[in-house]
Amino acid sequence: MTRRDELAANLAAVELRIVSACAEASRDRDEITLIVITKTYPASDVELLAELGVTDVGENRHPEAQLKMEALLAMEANPSKTLPRCHFVGGLQTNKTNAVTRYADVVHSVDRLKLVNALERGAAAASRTVTCLVQVGLSEDAGRSGAPAADVLAIAEAIDAAEHLILGGVMAVAPLGADAQTAFGELRSVSLAVRERFPDASMISAGMSGDLEEAVKAGATHLRIGRSVLGERPLLG
Ligand SMILES: *Cc1c(COP(=O)(O)O)cnc(C)c1O
Repeated sequence: MTRRDELAANLAAVELRIVSACAEASRDRDEITLIVITKTYPASDVELLAELGVTDVGENRHPEAQLKMEALLAMEANPSKTLPRCHFVGGLQTNKTNAVTRYADVVHSVDRLKLVNALERGAAAASRTVTCLVQVGLSEDAGRSGAPAADVLAIAEAIDAAEHLILGGVMAVAPLGADAQTAFGELRSVSLAVRERFPDASMISAGMSGDLEEAVKAGATHLRIGRSVLGERPLLG
């Protein structure tokens, strides 16, 4: 089996899971965007995914993400071929925002006000508009990143006020060992509170390879799937 065949088969299996989760939750498949998380995998895989119809890819580390996006541009033999949208889903430091806003279309991990200001400066310098999601730290989550629910609205307001940023909505990672259904239910409540104030901020980024069904049930609009498409990642040292 070629890598292309393997990726095609994995994508088909994930698509089947999404379609059945939608049927179960009485949702329309078109409400959901699949983001394939390509971290640790080479640009050649991203190119194959794009050829197979994947429109959105995600990365969690700079500079790995930047090097891959540059390699992808260089590979573009056919000028009519378009690059997939690039989502940055990892923890972000303010000293990386100038670089990240040059290639990312959506940043999922905005968890503090300081980051909003830095992203706005970066996007302005690059003359780009970047969609931002507020990453919500769910209550069962002791260690992982994300803004406390009480801070989410203030961060959302800052994003909305920033000239080069668009408030897309919210994002979360289900805490390790927690019940995904409960965790995503909490995210949905935070999303409702944000949408009361900002009706267009309808994106809910939730659900990974292990919990996409629960995320679909809780109203996710964007799924972030890595391993189920690309295979298990080698452990990083
Ligand atoms: C790696 C990663 C994913 C994908 O996880 P899988 O278990 O490989 O599907 C999703 N979201 C974030 C923030 C990630 O870092």
